[in-house]
Order: sequence, then structure tokens, then C-alpha cells
Amino acid sequence: MIMTLRTILNYPDPRLRTLAKPVTVFDDSLKTLIDDMFQTMYAAKGIGLAATQIDEHIQLIVMDLSEDGSQPRVFINPKVTPLVDELFGYEEGCLSVPEYYDKVARPKRVKIEAVDAAGQAFVEEAEGLLAVCIQHEIDHLNGKIFVDYLSKLKQDRARDKVRKVIKQREKDAEHKSMKPICQKRIKEHS
Ligand code: ZN
Repeated sequence: MIMTLRTILNYPDPRLRTLAKPVTVFDDSLKTLIDDMFQTMYAAKGIGLAATQIDEHIQLIVMDLSEDGSQPRVFINPKVTPLVDELFGYEEGCLSVPEYYDKVARPKRVKIEAVDAAGQAFVEEAEGLLAVCIQHEIDHLNGKIFVDYLSKLKQDRARDKVRKVIKQREKDAEHKSMKPICQKRIKEHS
């Protein structure tokens, strides 16, 4: 199987605000996209990824809440309905807001209705991390990011953090790509 690592959009990229369309065709290109999304999510050490985050604007989420990457889950055209009024505060992070974490309060227990990768509809009740994660990812499909729930000050802080992280990553990549040239030069001189 050939899989491709996809580029994850970073906050505040305006493409993250795009509204995702429902999936209507369950074909091989959807399967490939799902494989790519898992590959991309695992490589970035994430637990959830919405198609929106890789600039594919369909209602598709991949998730794996296990420690060892053994429980891949797919949610297509997902809907959540809160089952309780009680909120649960959890320190959230996001692959599109790298290295920034903050607490968001969301309904503690929800009903999830979705379709799996084979096109089969399913319903389940969720709480804890699954409830947090599915609500966070569905927000992405609606163009919403977890920092939207935070104060303006914290949003600015998140933006600065992302800018710094991207700069550092570019520096690291540059460093990596320069190495072979340096080594070659050393060889030529010796
Ligand atoms: Zn996210």
C-alpha cells in the first residue's frame, strides 16, 4: 500500500475555516485519503485528525486514542448530541496549533452518530477522551478551532506559539538538508 504524508494546515490559516461537505461516495479514493490521514496523524503523534486540517473539505475524521496506535477509528458524516448539561474541562491540543494547550469545557457525555469507512452507519455513546476528541474534530469540519473558545489574549498567545514552532521546524529542516552539502565539501577538501 502506498501512503502519502499530507501537509497539516496551521492556525490561523483561513482554509481551516472552510465548511466540510458530507461524504456521498465510498470509493477507493476515499480509502486512500483515509490511509493518508492515519499515516499523517501517526507521524505527527496526534490522536485525531479532521480532513479539514489537510485541506480536504469533506466530513471525515480519523482517530486513535490508544497508546500504541492499535485502535484506528473512522467517523464519516458525524453528528454529536449532548446527553447531559454537565460540562467536562479538558486540556486540549491540536495538530494545527502545534505545542499550544489549553482547557476547554464541553458536554461531558454525548451521542455520536456516524458512518464508518465501509459505509455502515453506527450510533454510540461517549464520555471522557472520546467525547472530547469527537467534539474537537467535528468543530474542525465546521471551520472551528479549539482556541476560538479562549480569550483574545490566549488566541494571540497561540498564534505566536505556532509562528515560533513553524520557524523552528523550518530551521531544523534547513539544517537537515544542508548536512549532505557540508559533508561533500569536507570530502572535496580532504
Ligand atoms: Zn484539532
